[in-house]
Amino acid sequence: MTSNWSELVGQDHVRSGLQAAISQNRLGGSYLLIGPNGTGKHTLVDLLARTLLCRISEPQAMMPCGHCEACQQVTAGTHPDVVRVAKPKDKTVIPVKEFIGEQDARMKEGFCHDLRIRPLMGGWKVGIIDDADFLNEEGANCLLKTLEEPPSKTVILLIGTSEQKQLPTIRSRCQTIRVGPLSREASCRLLREVHGLEESEADVLEAVEISGGDIHAALRLLQGESGQIRSTLIRFLESRTPDPVAISKFFSQQVNEAGKDPPKRRAMLRDLFSISVQHFRQQLRAEVFTGQSLPKTSIRLDRSLRALRELDRSANQSALIESFASDIAAGESSELGEIG
Ligand SMILES: [Zn+2]
Repeated sequence: MTSNWSELVGQDHVRSGLQAAISQNRLGGSYLLIGPNGTGKHTLVDLLARTLLCRISEPQAMMPCGHCEACQQVTAGTHPDVVRVAKPKDKTVIPVKEFIGEQDARMKEGFCHDLRIRPLMGGWKVGIIDDADFLNEEGANCLLKTLEEPPSKTVILLIGTSEQKQLPTIRSRCQTIRVGPLSREASCRLLREVHGLEESEADVLEAVEISGGDIHAALRLLQGESGQIRSTLIRFLESRTPDPVAISKFFSQQVNEAGKDPPKRRAMLRDLFSISVQHFRQQLRAEVFTGQSLPKTSIRLDRSLRALRELDRSANQSALIESFASDIAAGESSELGEIG
């Protein structure tokens, strides 16, 4: 569990900006936290909420104790003065009722209502809108007034992954705070000092590189959470004559098992490509070591790296999987070039 601001690695500008605002009594209003996955946005929200609500330490000190009832409730998601909204797993947007209540209880419940109730603990109110990428016009319209004129001693934090995904009406009413991307050095420090990983420097650096700065993806790689998936995939890749149909089927199967949520599916695919990169890198190293490098190995490595790059830009995951599987099997890269 993150317990103080030193653990928000690589985001010193964010910390000092918030500290200045708190100590000059000008914190408040609406903030849009923007940054790629795994750069610390949720850590930041948790830290800020505890900083404001801790019963032991004053907000200006920026040293929430982490142990008092308030700190623990914030982290457990049960603090009465923290109001949260997130996209339900089975929805593609955040439903309006989350903001203004059900049809028969309009403005008597929901985010906007709860935020206007006086703080039960007499201090700050913190509103958190997770998944701000999934706000639609209707939802945003319900929020505008609250974002524009939040009650006093209230801070509203919206969490999103990119500025382009935010509606202009939302953007214009919030101060934007950019969180990340993390530098390579900061990512390594975060993995070692905060997550306590003890793998070799080279392994940590490799995981950081492969995961493109997404700390959650790097952790999954290093901690081998996907152990079973990894060993099956490596069996396919190691074969003298890799079977494109089997590889492609295995990929699709894993992606489907990851669920319907697009970010989860993409995260699974990222893990699979990452495991491939890792595997071919190790194979190449071993071949160089024994003086028997095979051209196909470096082609397969490049092809896996390309798949990782294409992942964020491509909407057609099955095409991506199929072309990857057939190139890996052939040990050559299709001439089509990268999907643009
Ligand atoms: Zn505390």
